Amino acid sequence: MRILGIETSCDETAASVVLRDENGQGSILGDVVLSQLEEHSAYGGVVPEIAARAHVEALDTLIEEALLRAGVTLDDIDAIAATSGPGLIGGLIVGLMTGKAIARATGKPLYAVNHLEGHALTARLTDGLSFPYLMLLVSGGHTQLILVKGVGDYERWGTTIDDALGEAFDKTAKLLGLPYPGGPAVERAAVNGNAERFNFPRPLVGDARLDFSFSGLKTAVRQAAQSLEPVTEQDIADICASFQRAISRTLKDRIGRGLKRFKTDHASVEKPALVVAGGVAANQVLRATLQELCDRNGFDFIAPPLALCTDNAAMIAWAGAERFAAGLPADDLDVAPRSRWPLDHQAQTLLGSGK
Ligand code: ATP
Ligand code: MG
Ligand code: FE
Repeated sequence: MRILGIETSCDETAASVVLRDENGQGSILGDVVLSQLEEHSAYGGVVPEIAARAHVEALDTLIEEALLRAGVTLDDIDAIAATSGPGLIGGLIVGLMTGKAIARATGKPLYAVNHLEGHALTARLTDGLSFPYLMLLVSGGHTQLILVKGVGDYERWGTTIDDALGEAFDKTAKLLGLPYPGGPAVERAAVNGNAERFNFPRPLVGDARLDFSFSGLKTAVRQAAQSLEPVTEQDIADICASFQRAISRTLKDRIGRGLKRFKTDHASVEKPALVVAGGVAANQVLRATLQELCDRNGFDFIAPPLALCTDNAAMIAWAGAERFAAGLPADDLDVAPRSRWPLDHQAQTLLGSGK
């Protein structure tokens, strides 16, 4: 089947056409992403109203472009999938309404997709991974460790109790006077830094739960910077390197526990896998940390191409295709966007477990 995907939950407008063949293999036929980075950079963060307007202006053209690149027309599409949460409500309305309009006009089914489900299932599109596996989502808005058991069947094992990891990078960059988005800027600055200089906190290390916390780290960075006034370029490099090292140590503990739990709970899985998703997956220190952790614990470490780790519509189209193939029902055209929509709640609703 061919499915048209639409993604507008944050600051990327995206459209994609994805094919899922009879064997369950996926391929991306046409994929376009328009980042709104420039619109927001002057404000040091995403401005919801600007984002919603930018989605309205770009989306129709992007859908046409995705169809064109795929060499198909709407007639060749079997279903529409649009992100309907979680995310910024203005953007979600734009994408979901567009999806509904196309579904209504063409009579094709509409899948209202959870953005997190898109991230969770991407590794099946790129690497044909089988269930169950673990997924670490590290982006500007989320930091979650999720057990992916099946289509529509997810368990959230850990989440951040305060800032998301990407947010911690962005806030740290901001208070050091580095440009937005902060992640790449902090990583660049850290290259020439001494990671041993500052002993930043490693929140929740040793905690039996699998949650994350990053706001204390950001506060420690602020205090370090204030104690140094005036801060030199070398100081900034050292702070960034030490910041990344603290994150690496924290993740080693948190994710390490997750891997062990997976091995205990799913002892029969021959080759367990950890998948990473989200913009922070670009970070080389994070990648090296996870790779080492996986090697040590006998896990495959799977990092999809970066363009599919960050927000895109191919993952939304693919999630729609997976739902269709799993026999899950399409959505009614009165389905509403949801700014908050935890993935495991969705699973509970679908499975009727009502826990
Ligand atoms: P979400 O997908 O959760 O709604 P988002 O759009 O903010 O949120 P992404 O676009 O996936 O998420 O990722 C953006 C985040 O990734 C930003 O916080 C950015 O600083 C961070 N990031 C990007 N590159 C790097 C890097 N090299 N190192 C660390 N963080 C990075
Ligand atoms: Mg983004
Ligand atoms: Fe995302």
